Amino acid sequence: MECPRCQGSLEELSLGDVSTVTCPHCSFADVPVDHVSENDEPESWRDAFNRFYEDNTVREDATEH
Ligand SMILES: [Zn+2]
Repeated sequence: MECPRCQGSLEELSLGDVSTVTCPHCSFADVPVDHVSENDEPESWRDAFNRFYEDNTVREDATEH
């Protein structure tokens, strides 16, 4: 799957029963669920996923270091 904006390869993310794709190269985010709000804010999805992963990463790092 390629990014429609920069043709880079997209990252697929899923959280529970919701999934989306984001582009790590240009921060494009596609939200193919009916959760899309009228505020054109694709960044909020990425932020939410980042927060989710950071939470887990921080906890794992803390135990290892
Ligand atoms: Zn892109």
